[in-house]
Amino acid sequence: MNYENSNIEPFCRAGNCGYQIKDHVGCTDGSGDCMPVSLLDAEESGFHDGSLIAATSAIKDILANIPADVNGRTLSFLNTRMGTLLAWVEHGHDAWEGAVTAKDDDATIAAALKLKNVTFADAAQAN
Ligand SMILES: [Zn+2]
Repeated sequence: MNYENSNIEPFCRAGNCGYQIKDHVGCTDGSGDCMPVSLLDAEESGFHDGSLIAATSAIKDILANIPADVNGRTLSFLNTRMGTLLAWVEHGHDAWEGAVTAKDDDATIAAALKLKNVTFADAAQAN
């Protein structure tokens, strides 16, 4: 199966991309919680010092060496309240009936993404 990712631009990069999870992950209209992987370079500054510039370079090298997905999916950072997951995503889909999205609670999202060792931010707020 080959996924159609030709419409990542401008839809996903405009911050309109949201993850949806069934047994696989796709994106649909959302608030930027599915962010196609792109790590930015910047001039050295007080908030982006030499250590962070070196780390950025190392992370970019690691990401660049990930073999392309045989199914044509692309890498995204899935941003949750618990943290960020790197995932292969089918971009540019309509909303899937019954899919888990960022609007669901943390426990539901954690289960759908098979997250390990996470603390539920919304559960902490309830206490
Ligand atoms: Zn997308």
